[in-house]
Amino acid sequence: MRKYVIMGIQGSGKGTQAQLLASDFDLVHISVGDIFRWNVEQHTKLGAQVRRIMAAGELVDDELVESIVRQRLHDHDWNYGFIIDGFPRNVRQAEFFLESFDIDAVILLELADEEVATRVLSRRICAGCGLDYNIVGRLPEESERCATCGGMLVMREDDTPEALAARLRDYHDKTQPIIELFERKECVLHVDAKRGVDVIQDDIRGRLGLRDG
Ligand code: AMP
Repeated sequence: MRKYVIMGIQGSGKGTQAQLLASDFDLVHISVGDIFRWNVEQHTKLGAQVRRIMAAGELVDDELVESIVRQRLHDHDWNYGFIIDGFPRNVRQAEFFLESFDIDAVILLELADEEVATRVLSRRICAGCGLDYNIVGRLPEESERCATCGGMLVMREDDTPEALAARLRDYHDKTQPIIELFERKECVLHVDAKRGVDVIQDDIRGRLGLRDG
C-alpha cells in the first residue's frame, strides 16, 4: 500500500506527475481541483457552490474540502494506494489528513515563482477529459482539440493573472507552512520541477524505490 501526497506551486506539474505514477502503479489519483472542475462543468449543486470562489483563485472552505476528501477516500477501493494532489492546502487540512492517514511520502515539486506565470498562462485543459496540455508540452500545433478524446482545449477559468496572483499568495502564506509540518513527521522528497516531465518522473520513481509495473 502506497500513500503519497504531491505538492507544489501552481503550474509545477502536480497533476501530470501524479497521473503518470497513478497509471503505472494502480494508485487512485485524487485531485480536489479536478473534482471541483468536474462539478462546475456538470452544473451540480457543489459546482454552483464553488464556481465563483475557484474563478477568483480563492480557497474553498475547509469543511467542504475535507468532506470531499473523506468521501473520495471512503468510496474508492484503493488496494494499491493513492496519490493526492491539491490537498492539503493549509495547516488545518494537513492536521485533518494526518489524523486519519499516515503518508509514505510527500513529493514536493519545486519551481520558482518566475516560472509560474509563463506556464500557467499558456496552459490549456481539455474540456472533455481534463488532460493538461501545457506542462506536458503536448499542445497539438494545428488543432484546438485534445489528442486523446477530441474535446475542445480551453483555458482554466482561474488561469488569469488576477486569480493566479491570489493563488500564489495563498500558496506562500497558507500552503508552504505545512511543508515544515510534513518535514517533521514524514518523508518529503524535494524535486526540481524545472526539468522535463520524463526526467522528473524517473527521479521520483527512483527516490521512492518504485520500479515499472
Ligand atoms: P487546483 O486544480 O489544485 O489548482 O485547484 C483549483 C481550485 O480548486 C483552487 O484554486 C481552489 O479554489 C479549489 N481547491 C482545490 N483544492 C483545494 C483545497 N485543498 N482547499 C481549498 N480549495 C481547494
